[in-house]
Amino acid sequence: MKKTFEKLRDLQEILLKEFEAESEIDDIPRELNELKKQYTKVERSIKEMEQSGENNQKKIKEVQKQKSELQLNKEKYEGQIPLIKTQKEYEALTSEIAQLDEKLQLIEEEELNADQEIESLNKSIEEMKDLHGTLKKEISEKQKEVNQALGKKQKELDKYLKEKEKISSGLDEEVIYKFEKIVRKKEGIGIVSIKNSICMGCNMILPPQFVNDVRREEEIIFCPNCSRILYYYDHEHVDGEVVV
Ligand SMILES: [Zn+2]
Repeated sequence: MKKTFEKLRDLQEILLKEFEAESEIDDIPRELNELKKQYTKVERSIKEMEQSGENNQKKIKEVQKQKSELQLNKEKYEGQIPLIKTQKEYEALTSEIAQLDEKLQLIEEEELNADQEIESLNKSIEEMKDLHGTLKKEISEKQKEVNQALGKKQKELDKYLKEKEKISSGLDEEVIYKFEKIVRKKEGIGIVSIKNSICMGCNMILPPQFVNDVRREEEIIFCPNCSRILYYYDHEHVDGEVVV
């Protein structure tokens, strides 16, 4: 059983390395993923601005059509001026023309606004495209870095997995499964001693019969409270050994 405990301690060490490598593998692409998100956002924003620019162009066309219709009407009315006979007719005509002028003025303002909007959109699109290009370059450089780092870490992880397999041979599969889960959950410590009837993992006082069972070392026993594997700490026999 002493051998089993030793193996479990070795296994714990490897498991900690394995978990660390795994979490590093998760972390490595984080920055790259942020860049990609930003890139997608910029791309979307360019598309939206281009769409908005197109809408403004359409609006300008419409406005220009209306403008030329209004101008034609105005010319028509102006052409009628010399033919006018009464003051009343004159007033009616000039009032029509004045109304057309008002409409024309409003429409010209709309046209100007749309024009200005397009200009400012084009400027923003230009800036966004610059950013888009910069991000694209950054992403491709980062991607290379990430691939390299991932490859390296994966090799490291594979090494730990192989070591784990080697250490695990001869150990009960279910024990390994449970142990791995405990190490992952319980701050990296899956095997602890009992000292003065207390579990050194969770400080629970264990009943004498239970402590005796652990002491007999006939089977692997888990702490009923923290689920860690327990061994009996006997300072006379475990001299010099590192005991948790
Ligand atoms: Zn415990």
